Amino acid sequence: MNQARKGCRVPSDLVPHCPVCGGSMAMHLRCDQYFVEEEHWHEAAGRYASFLNGHFGEKTVLLELGVGFNTPTIIRFPFEKMVREHEGWSLVRLNLGEAAVPDSLKERAVGINGDILKSIGDIRNRFLNERRENGDTERKTRISD
Ligand SMILES: [Zn+2]
Repeated sequence: MNQARKGCRVPSDLVPHCPVCGGSMAMHLRCDQYFVEEEHWHEAAGRYASFLNGHFGEKTVLLELGVGFNTPTIIRFPFEKMVREHEGWSLVRLNLGEAAVPDSLKERAVGINGDILKSIGDIRNRFLNERRENGDTERKTRISD
């Protein structure tokens, strides 16, 4: 399918169909009443809530990758709200074309409008260089997933 893709479009005959009703398959997005929250979804939601609850009061960076305005109420707006509400939190938003961050977050938010892979490499290299320049040989920064 990827080879047949032209730009962001897939030929209609390659779109998978439902084995029950024959309807076209669609992305699993929280955009209507058909979003499925099964066991694994709830487990992941629990891990996410634990992470957030475990970092209140700590210096934390929310790294947002490729989240646009398709369903901004799921990640994008909550991230902005959390940064607004937690003084030690900051937001790094990587998005090609939709990287703007609210001015109200001031220096605690940065939007990087570019290729995510290259941007992450640049951030990593800069972090490692600064750590080296500061003589910081210990790993003091915790990176969570
Ligand atoms: Zn169906």
